[in-house]
Amino acid sequence: MLPKIHILLGIIFSLSFWYLFPQIGFLGFAIIFASSVLIDVDHYLFYAYTRKDWNYFHAKKWFMDKTMEFRKMPKGKRKKLARAIPCIFHGIEAIIILLFLSLFSNIFFFILIGFLFHEFLDLIGIIYWGYDLNHILSQTRNILRYKK
Ligand SMILES: [Zn+2]
Repeated sequence: MLPKIHILLGIIFSLSFWYLFPQIGFLGFAIIFASSVLIDVDHYLFYAYTRKDWNYFHAKKWFMDKTMEFRKMPKGKRKKLARAIPCIFHGIEAIIILLFLSLFSNIFFFILIGFLFHEFLDLIGIIYWGYDLNHILSQTRNILRYKK
């Protein structure tokens, strides 16, 4: 899902969450919103690490080109080519770590809420566009598959 959609829906979600649970305060709202958007930093890390290019704009262009290329394909062809790239914050491993850390601080709980909301939106995008569901499942698996 595109960053601008994550920003727009992230702000609506975190404001609604704050409205429903005012006890989270502005800090809770801000962390939920920020984490629902910034989780996608792992896409940049993947690009930078695998391409040895730390230029953010190159990474953005690379992903936008790939996204548009993918969306132009016929749906049947997409399924075969869709293979999840390792995105370390998108998987169940990050969720489990955050669940554990939430026992010690609300900050991690707020990050967890933001991540879960983001991944819920990604799930809708995966189903709609025909991406690989592994994008939001085990990143250990995605890393091992990518290395092959
Ligand atoms: Zn995402």
